Amino acid sequence: MNNKDLLNVAREFGSPVYVYDSEKIISQYERLTSAFKKVPNLKLNYAVKALSNLSILKLMNSLDSGLDTVSIQEVKLGLLAGFKPEDIIFTPNGVSLQEIEEVAALGVQINIDNLSILEQFGTKHPDIPVCIRINPHVMAGGNSNISVGHIDSKFGISVHQMPHLIRIVENTNMRINGIHMHTGSDILDIEVFLYASEILFDTAKQFRDLEFLDFGSGFKVPYKEGDIQTNVEELGKKLSKRFNDFCKEYGRELTLAFEPGKFLVSEAGNFLVSVNVVKQTTSTVFAGVDSGFNHLIRPMLYGSNHQIVNVSNPKGRERFYSVVGYICETDTFGSNRRISEISEGDILCFKNAGAYCFTMSSNYNSRYRPAEVLWHEGQAHLIRKRETFDDLIKNQVEAEINFPVKELV
Ligand SMILES: *Cc1c(COP(=O)(O)O)cnc(C)c1O
Repeated sequence: MNNKDLLNVAREFGSPVYVYDSEKIISQYERLTSAFKKVPNLKLNYAVKALSNLSILKLMNSLDSGLDTVSIQEVKLGLLAGFKPEDIIFTPNGVSLQEIEEVAALGVQINIDNLSILEQFGTKHPDIPVCIRINPHVMAGGNSNISVGHIDSKFGISVHQMPHLIRIVENTNMRINGIHMHTGSDILDIEVFLYASEILFDTAKQFRDLEFLDFGSGFKVPYKEGDIQTNVEELGKKLSKRFNDFCKEYGRELTLAFEPGKFLVSEAGNFLVSVNVVKQTTSTVFAGVDSGFNHLIRPMLYGSNHQIVNVSNPKGRERFYSVVGYICETDTFGSNRRISEISEGDILCFKNAGAYCFTMSSNYNSRYRPAEVLWHEGQAHLIRKRETFDDLIKNQVEAEINFPVKELV
C-alpha cells in the first residue's frame, strides 16, 4: 500500500480508520514458516488478541494457521471464522475452571498455567489431554509490562514446582500432551531464547505422551528504520536443529508450535486520522487529530513509538511536531517528531498499527470506535463499520427511578 492508496481509503471510509494490508500478513507468515522449514511438523497459532477481526481470522485460516486464544469469546470468534476446534489452543491466565471446561467441551486444546486448576481439571476430566504452561524464569522482553517469564510473573507454572506437578499428573491419571512457554514480548537475544528453550526441553523429557512443544511468541518487529528486530532466520536455523535433535532423543516426531501475534499483523496495520488543529505554543507545535488513546493506546500505555507519516503531504518540508489526541487528559502519540509539514485537514498515518491497536480501543470520552478496512489485492474492503450513537447506548438501561428535583433554598 502506498500513500495514495491510504489517502483514498481515508477519503472513501472517513477517519479515523484502521487499514490492514493482507500482503504484509501473508509475507510475514511465509517468512516465519520458511525460517523453520527444516522442522517436519511446524504449527503457527496466530494470537487472536493482537487483532481479532473475523476477516483477519479467515485470512489466517486460509494460510493454514491455527489460533492461540485467551478467552472463550476468542475461541468462539475462531470457530465462527471457520477454524476447526483442534486447530485452536486456549492459553488463558486466571480464568475460572468453568470457562476452561466450556472451552474443552468445544474440542479445543487446553493449556493450563497453574497447579490448582490442573489438579481440579485432571480430577474431573482425566480423559482430556492438556498442555501445561511453564515459567522458565528467564528474563526476556523489553517493556516491564510485557515481560512474563520472570520470577514475579503471574504466568505459567514455575519449573521449580515440577515435582508437585508430576504428583498431580500421576494422582489424577491425566495426560499431558504439550509443554508451552511464552516468556515475554520481545525476543532480542536469541541465545537467551535458546537458553529458555533448554529448560522447556528438560521439562519435556519428564512426560512420555507429548505431541507438541509450544515456544510461545515474542518476535520483535521494527517500528522504524534501524530498529533491532528478532532475527527470525537465525532463530529458525538454531532452534530447528536443536528441536529435531531433541525429537530423536525423545523418540517421537513432535510438532513445534509458535503463537505469533505482533509478528504477523503489526506492520500490516496503518491507522489513519485527520488533523483537526495545528496549535503553536511557546514551546512546540501541536498537531491535534480526530483520535486519541481511546483508539490507539500503545504510545500512552507502553511508550511505543509508532512512526507518523503525513500522507496528504509526504514530500513537504519536514518540521517538528507533537502529535496529540483529543482525549481530555494527557494524550500524546508522539513528541518532537519530524514530519512533513502539516496543515489542518491533512491525513496522518500511524505505522505498525496492526497489533494491539484496534483490539485495545474503547469508547472513552463517548467516542465511536473506528472503522476497519482490509486492503487485499489492490482493493479496499470494509471489515468493520464505524460505530454510531446507537452502539453507545444499546446496552444502557434507563433506571426507573424518579430522581426528585432538588429545591433551592
Ligand atoms: C499475547 C500472547 C502471544 C502473542 O504475543 P506477540 O508478542 O504478539 O507475538 C502469544 N502467546 C500468548 C500466550 C500470549 O498471551
